[in-house]
Amino acid sequence: MTAVTQVAIAGAGVAGLAAAIQLAKAGVRVDVYEAKAELSAHGSGISLQGNALRCFDALGAWDDIRAAGYPFEGLNLRAPGPGAPIVASLPDVKTGGADYPAAMGMPRPALARILLSHAQAAGANIVFGAKITGIEDAGDAVDVQVNGEQAGTYDLVIGADGLHSTVRELIGIETKPERNGMGIWRTFVSRPADVERSELYYGGPVYIAGYTPTGDDTMYAFLVEKAQDRFGLSDDEATAIMLEESRAYSGPWDSIRADLEKGATANYTLFTKHVVEGAWNRGRVVIIGDAAHSCPPTIAQGAAQGLEDAVVLTELLTRRDTVDESLWGEFHARRLPRATAVVEASSQLAQWQIDGDRDADAGGLIFGIAKQMAVPA
Ligand SMILES: Cc1cc2nc3c(=O)[nH]c(=O)nc-3n(C[C@H](O)[C@H](O)[C@H](O)COP(=O)(O)OP(=O)(O)OC[C@H]3O[C@@H](n4cnc5c(N)ncnc54)[C@H](O)[C@@H]3O)c2cc1C
Repeated sequence: MTAVTQVAIAGAGVAGLAAAIQLAKAGVRVDVYEAKAELSAHGSGISLQGNALRCFDALGAWDDIRAAGYPFEGLNLRAPGPGAPIVASLPDVKTGGADYPAAMGMPRPALARILLSHAQAAGANIVFGAKITGIEDAGDAVDVQVNGEQAGTYDLVIGADGLHSTVRELIGIETKPERNGMGIWRTFVSRPADVERSELYYGGPVYIAGYTPTGDDTMYAFLVEKAQDRFGLSDDEATAIMLEESRAYSGPWDSIRADLEKGATANYTLFTKHVVEGAWNRGRVVIIGDAAHSCPPTIAQGAAQGLEDAVVLTELLTRRDTVDESLWGEFHARRLPRATAVVEASSQLAQWQIDGDRDADAGGLIFGIAKQMAVPA
């Protein structure tokens, strides 16, 4: 017995597909409506912490994820300037426990493909080019409109539709992502053999320079700068800016620059933060993932939190037999404090960078939040 038999999910991102896998495996009829015409084949990389890897295991996707990414332990800090000396090698807390690496990097398109194939194999119906545009909650069932037309009636709607969530707006939750004053350049490049873990450079012309291995031959590199209007630039203009800002950094950055000069593209995104402080549901409609919370990726926990939302929600939906206040009470008790702690810690770390606060105990904050994440959600 499950609390639901038919569920609509808005969004085929990490959170939506994770929820779809778990519900479909339990025999629930799942329709995932994705506004985009197809999964994006382009994109940068992502760092997945141990607690995210533990979620992939719960989904049954861990073997495929492990094979498609680059597991690593620890973090190096390097200095800007000639030779890029390593100034500290920091151990990682294994946030997924002893059974998983501390972290792994992987290409975002590979992650999306793996989750999509697991959702489809579990029996979820994924509809692309389908934007949820209307929701009517009748109390015991919810009517869903897609692209302006009636699409079906469900026991529950999960809004996993990202930062600018339509579902959040449709159910009247007014919290919205705010910019935090930082922007990031990212590029996907080849991995020099000596890059075996994430490495960060503090100091120099940008707040943070860094890279993370994503495979035997690949990694993503990034520069975090003061947020500015970088939109509407041509590919060549974007690459030129990333090249120019990277010149203060050497070591593996020499190889990154060579790839940029050969045509690796640079993309730009602004950091945001928000967390919906009260309930994430209104009746039988609930938001999860970036729709409910976002944070600057200073501790690389955004997707991990969306995965945990999906795993906890679907555990409750498949182990109970009614959707009631007690279910929502447990969901919020297990998710809200944890997601809030991640948003606050990530935002604090970013703010210390913006303020140039050299006395801040960044290591203590990172270690403290990692220890919290090591306890399963
Ligand atoms: C620069 C940057 C770096 C990051 N790095 C990391 C990292 O290293 N590690 C980490 O864990 N996290 C990281 N994150 C955070 C992570 O990327 C996000 O938390 C995660 O991708 C959010 O997943 P999601 O499924 O909630 O939303 P999304 O991935 O945004 O998916 C939402 C989907 O919903 C669709 N959609 C939107 N509206 C509708 C609608 N009305 N109907 C149907 N579909 C709709 C969208 O097209 C989209 O496909 C980073 C974020 C940024 C900005």
